[in-house]
Amino acid sequence: TKQNLLLAEKMAALGHLAAGVAHEINNPAAAITANLTYLREGMTRKSPPADALECVDESLESVGRIAKIVRQLLEAGRTAASAPRIVHNMSVSRAVRQAVSEAKLHFGSRITASVDVGDDLRAKGDVDALVQVLVNVIVNGAQAIEPERTDGRLSIRAREIEGRISIEVTDNGAGMSEETKRRMFEPFFTTKPFGLGTGLGLPVSLGLVRSMGGDLRVESRAGMTTVHIELERSTLLDVESAPALRAS
Ligand code: ADP
Ligand code: MG
Repeated sequence: TKQNLLLAEKMAALGHLAAGVAHEINNPAAAITANLTYLREGMTRKSPPADALECVDESLESVGRIAKIVRQLLEAGRTAASAPRIVHNMSVSRAVRQAVSEAKLHFGSRITASVDVGDDLRAKGDVDALVQVLVNVIVNGAQAIEPERTDGRLSIRAREIEGRISIEVTDNGAGMSEETKRRMFEPFFTTKPFGLGTGLGLPVSLGLVRSMGGDLRVESRAGMTTVHIELERSTLLDVESAPALRAS
């Protein structure tokens, strides 16, 4: 059934997340172990190695990295847990407008954003989750535009195509390398400097869109990236079969 499919998808997403986390925690943990082993050997000889301070500093940095991963994970877990309050007549227009104004706080007037969204587009989904996805994607687009540029453009377009709701977010930023295209949905994969990127935006967004019965894919080349989000359109039939509405 659909419910089982959703659960299977969530378990698969959780599996990917767990694998990503294990990998990310393993590296700093291995560095800490190596440093402590080295220091311990020095202490048994009663002569701390000359680079002991360096070892300790390195280990503290690794512990900080682990703490950051755990913080991000808790945050992602909170949004994932609170995610699907799915309704059958979510206003896509409202979600797009809210996301754009939230995202604008991150990039200000440096970038020209154009919004083309139909008046009363409705889809199956959770409006908070869709806003979160769109903010992630729009901020990614803005961050892909080099800071010194003055011709940065973002376009957000939502329409109905062949009975599905299609939302496209396009930027004229740097685009993705081949490696990034391969790895963009890996939890914690980021090309941004430490502290700026979490590497969770796209994997979490993909999970949220899928939990709404939709899909998210990315098309990118030098100078242009488009994120396509597809959702199930609301039909009168859907609205009538929605449990909350039928009960009233
Ligand atoms: P984060 O933004 O924290 O790095 P994401 O999961 O949102 O993590 O994105 C992963 C990576 O995908 C980014 O670090 C970036 O390299 C690449 N990326 C995402 N969106 C775009 C875009 N619009 N243009 C170019 N690269 C992008
Ligand atoms: Mg991001």
